[in-house]
Amino acid sequence: MWSFETDEAFQTELDWVETFVREEVEPLDLVFRGPGDPWDPDSPAAGAMAPLREIVKKRHLWACHLGPELSGEGYGQVKLGLMNEILGRSRFGPSVFGCQAPDSGNAEILARFGTPKQKAQFLQPLLDGKIASCYSMTEPQAGADPAEFTCRAKRDGDGWVINGEKWFASHARFAEFLLVMVVTNPERPIHEGASILLIEKSTAGLEILRNAAVGPYVEQGDGVHGYLRFTDCRVPAENLLGEEGKGFLVAQTRLGGGRIHHAMRSVGVLKKAMDMMCERVLSRTTKGELLANKQFTQEKIADTYTEIMQYRLHVLYTAWLIDKYKEYNREVRKEISAIKASTPKILQEVVYRAMHIHGSLGMSDELPFMNMWTNIPELGVVDGPTEVHKVGVARAVLRDYEPTNDLFPSYHVPAQFKAAMKKYGRFLN
Ligand SMILES: Cc1cc2nc3c(=O)[nH]c(=O)nc-3n(C[C@H](O)[C@H](O)[C@H](O)COP(=O)(O)OP(=O)(O)OC[C@H]3O[C@@H](n4cnc5c(N)ncnc54)[C@H](O)[C@@H]3O)c2cc1C
Repeated sequence: MWSFETDEAFQTELDWVETFVREEVEPLDLVFRGPGDPWDPDSPAAGAMAPLREIVKKRHLWACHLGPELSGEGYGQVKLGLMNEILGRSRFGPSVFGCQAPDSGNAEILARFGTPKQKAQFLQPLLDGKIASCYSMTEPQAGADPAEFTCRAKRDGDGWVINGEKWFASHARFAEFLLVMVVTNPERPIHEGASILLIEKSTAGLEILRNAAVGPYVEQGDGVHGYLRFTDCRVPAENLLGEEGKGFLVAQTRLGGGRIHHAMRSVGVLKKAMDMMCERVLSRTTKGELLANKQFTQEKIADTYTEIMQYRLHVLYTAWLIDKYKEYNREVRKEISAIKASTPKILQEVVYRAMHIHGSLGMSDELPFMNMWTNIPELGVVDGPTEVHKVGVARAVLRDYEPTNDLFPSYHVPAQFKAAMKKYGRFLN
């Protein structure tokens, strides 16, 4: 059954979220501009967010994509998608609603693979929004190709000893714990020889060498993406999450979700850019008429609307697939990769158009377009570069096709015509 409708009760919630985000959450972006503000429990923004989070919890919209066993509402990905379209308008939206990355994915991993003690110590405070977490996989010499990973954990008595480096570990500087992908068996191919370890922030041997930032506006070293070094860093054996060698299987719990959540929030950014573009063209006059009356502008509006509509439906369709299949099977992974690859492209088109239509004002620090613009490149590499996802999509698409052994293709018209004539030719007489 197909349906493009939102049920009435949830639409009421979405309307409430829309007003709440515009009136209470978006102003946070103007006041708290530090790179870690939405996620850092020690940021001054945390104080401003606390009462908003309480309101969201009372409204039963906190972490609502998680099941009731994780104190969520079990709304699933489609409803989260519809909410994220609104939350994406603000850097603080996901944090105020308890669905911020990487914490939401890390919570799912802990819930599935953590011991009761780990859950009590980390999961509940994480779900309550009281602590932050980090997910660290990328290494300085290797990101897109895990086969190049060298950060190694060796079993030693009742623990694991880690040596190596990690790069761009977001939020490591204020995370209470890190989930780190390490090589546990270098003899095996990486997808069978890597595992995920839980590492507490103050563990001896864990060092943050630098904190890189995205964009030019942050003081160097004051970013939130940690360059980590592990030197004989020892953690107890039970800090292995899932089975030894099954790290990528464990990671899938979060990565698929994370990728689609970026896309959902991007719908929010796109809509915000379009809203601003539409108000501007209806207000600005040049050469005796409104910008809105010029055909070049109308083309920009029409293309923007159509592209957002197409992208949005693809995102929601993928969310629906995840809800339907629960696990990230091939079909789901194909769509997740397809929307992941198309995200930076549509943002580039739409944000550029919206900025351009505002002229000098658009690129000034008095409008949010340059901030939006700076964030676009990260969506082309975070959780895997566009090229890698496109390769995945192409492989998945081609799996459904067969080659022909004939000299001419199976759809060669002369052969098809001959067969069609055999079927229907007699009616020509
Ligand atoms: C804002 C931000 C936050 C991040 N947060 C985290 C985090 O919390 N934890 C974490 O572990 N990592 C994080 N990352 C790292 C991210 O996952 C990596 O950047 C990503 O996997 C790519 O790795 P790389 O940067 O080493 O690029 P590389 O692997 O060096 O790739 C660079 C470029 O090479 C090309 N390329 C790579 N592979 C192929 C291919 N197969 N075919 C064709 N071209 C290819 C692409 O153009 C690609 O962009 C974050 C990155 C950003 C930007």
